[in-house]
Amino acid sequence: MKTVIYSIEDVEQAGAVIRAGGLVAFPTETVYGLGANALDADAARRIFEAKGRPQDNPLIAHIADFSMLDALCHDIPDVARRIAARFWPGPLTMALPKREIVPDTVTAGLPTVGIRYPSHPVAQALIRAAGVPIAAPSANRSGKPSPTTFAHVLADMDGRIDGIIRGGDAEVGVESTFIEFAEGKVRILRPGYITPEDLAEVVGAENVEIDGAVLKGLSENEHPRSPGMKYRHYAPSAPVVAVLGNNWDCAREIRRGVRGQVGAAAILCDEYADWIPCETLRVGRYGDYAAQAHRLFDALRELDRPDVRMIYAQCPDDRGVGLAVANRLKRAAGFHVIHARQLFVLGLTGSTGAGKGLVSQTLARIGAEIIDCDAVYHEMLRNDPALLANLCLEFPDAFSGGTLDRKALGRLAFQNEKELRRLNDITHPHIRRRITEILDKLEKRGIRFAVLDAPTLFESGADRFCDVTLGVTADPDVRAARIMERDGLDEEYARLRISAGKPDEYFKNQCDYMITNDGAPEALEQAARNIYQKIIYQQEDRKHGTSGIA
Ligand code: AMP
Ligand code: MG
Repeated sequence: MKTVIYSIEDVEQAGAVIRAGGLVAFPTETVYGLGANALDADAARRIFEAKGRPQDNPLIAHIADFSMLDALCHDIPDVARRIAARFWPGPLTMALPKREIVPDTVTAGLPTVGIRYPSHPVAQALIRAAGVPIAAPSANRSGKPSPTTFAHVLADMDGRIDGIIRGGDAEVGVESTFIEFAEGKVRILRPGYITPEDLAEVVGAENVEIDGAVLKGLSENEHPRSPGMKYRHYAPSAPVVAVLGNNWDCAREIRRGVRGQVGAAAILCDEYADWIPCETLRVGRYGDYAAQAHRLFDALRELDRPDVRMIYAQCPDDRGVGLAVANRLKRAAGFHVIHARQLFVLGLTGSTGAGKGLVSQTLARIGAEIIDCDAVYHEMLRNDPALLANLCLEFPDAFSGGTLDRKALGRLAFQNEKELRRLNDITHPHIRRRITEILDKLEKRGIRFAVLDAPTLFESGADRFCDVTLGVTADPDVRAARIMERDGLDEEYARLRISAGKPDEYFKNQCDYMITNDGAPEALEQAARNIYQKIIYQQEDRKHGTSGIA
């Protein structure tokens, strides 16, 4: 099918197409709609086909004057008229008892029909030109983000419909607020630009309800109040994670999440966007919910590409229009929502004998909670059933009488690179699981600063938990002396240990900050304190937007 592109001056022609049973997409203030004659069952059926929309998901009928409301609906409650008087024309849809002339195809067999009187002049002109109410869902392929620009509609619908009216970008950016009336109350089935607070001004806050599925999604076997609630929506092909929390915590959470991940992308507020090490799309200033609503679908569409493999998106709170944005985002994420951690984690690593322990002690005195990963690992080797079960399968010879012999495990694993890798492949995921549990506990206790002390911070993947990483190195002579003293080894053996470990470069290349220990403990402690101050100040500056961080 050839899709005709109409300019906004061509509404008369486009209206005639609709009157004759055709499909025309058109701009509205919320998103672009895909219109057909709402009184023509065959025309309405074609909408479902063009979108690939499930037959049981009803359409909204758009009107362009108040008299059309009474032509389509009966038993309109007084409260509906008051709400209409206040918010129409505008981004609000009401489900009302339908009259006979509204075909079942439009309402998917429901006794009610959703009615909206859009404020967009082109939408109004089209409805008047058609001379009939226009049934119109969003003009996207079913499941994809709703279209907010002409380009979005063209991408989804070219060749599938009769025409598209080329207008400007949709101002609101999310679909209309959808409400129904029940027992004197107004229930919001889909939040939008008209907020619960707005509705409360007309009917009183005690008479406004938000359907549970809006925020949490439907649980299994739960019956949706609106058929549309049960479908996957707005989703780009990559999985989306919605991140809740204040602006700074969200930024750090997203930064940790995307760091080092191939194909990661992020959608977030302007303030920290340039700090996130992946492709980022900005959705306006923090707290500017209207800007976020306006930008969200375009951002989701832009990231709907094969090279994008995971998307982190900052989720606003539920205030005002934030409720609508959060609802769309949580749906796009399939309700995969995480709470940004408040706890700040510094990853501490370094070469053996370099003085990492002293740095850790210094940070503990400053107030950090220390997580000693070596100790965590050894504890797990004693009594972590999941890890031990795994090891028992892979290294049965390290067990005697059902208990692990750590020395035997060491001998087996250190035979060669391959065996060591095999051991690490087993242990690292378990260690990360345990670290996750420990961090969750600290977070719950309200701890704000922790140090993850791990010689194998990067190899184990524990660096993904860290906001910043700090490496400690020292001259080989200094290290040899310390190892000899600490572990009671002779020089030859100490030097052998050093040469078996990672070179300084390894840490310098990967850590955000470095300390070089020149052998004097007081100087090392002072260096640790200085670096702590530097890190904290830079984080604070970031938080308050006064300077950048490398
Ligand atoms: P769309 O047209 O794509 O913006 O979607 C319209 C939304 O309104 C869908 O979620 C429908 O399930 C919902 N809807 C339409 N009519 C009704 C109705 N009579 N009762 C409840 N929900 C409805
Ligand atoms: Mg839709």
